[in-house]
Amino acid sequence: MVKLSTKQEATQAARLAQVRPELGAAYRVALRRWMGDPKLMLLGLPIVTCGYRSNAEQNALYAQGRQSLAVVNQLRKAAGLSPIGKVEAGRVVTYKRSGQSNHNHLPSLALDVAHLQEDGSVKWDNAALLLFSRLMRYADKRITWGADWDRDGITSDEQFRDWPHFELHG
Ligand SMILES: [Zn+2]
Repeated sequence: MVKLSTKQEATQAARLAQVRPELGAAYRVALRRWMGDPKLMLLGLPIVTCGYRSNAEQNALYAQGRQSLAVVNQLRKAAGLSPIGKVEAGRVVTYKRSGQSNHNHLPSLALDVAHLQEDGSVKWDNAALLLFSRLMRYADKRITWGADWDRDGITSDEQFRDWPHFELHG
């Protein structure tokens, strides 16, 4: 059974503390339901990989896949992030510039989820995220999942799917 270390627990709490309270509450409900189901736990333990993201961080992410490795890592350094490798730096991970993302508000209107595995690795698995999205929507109907922007329960009709992303406005 995957368990968080004390340090990881603290990181999760810090990330959730920077997220809109209703969104954080829904996440905690969904997480509790997930942890209560041994079959779901086989897919890993949900973790928040990102809540609030500063404009500097957003800039660094936006540079990925658009700027050279040197520029990407320069921006990452400025944002207080650790450097990344060439392959990762060459991959587009966001279409939003700084200030445009729902992560750039404080508290954040969005959070990103992944699944921590037994061996300590972090997995972004669409099928697992689909199952988690149902728990999130069940916890709070106002939540929008990044793989189902029009909230019709279908992911195949979306042009851009941001599978790990959940947001709550209004
Ligand atoms: Zn996101």
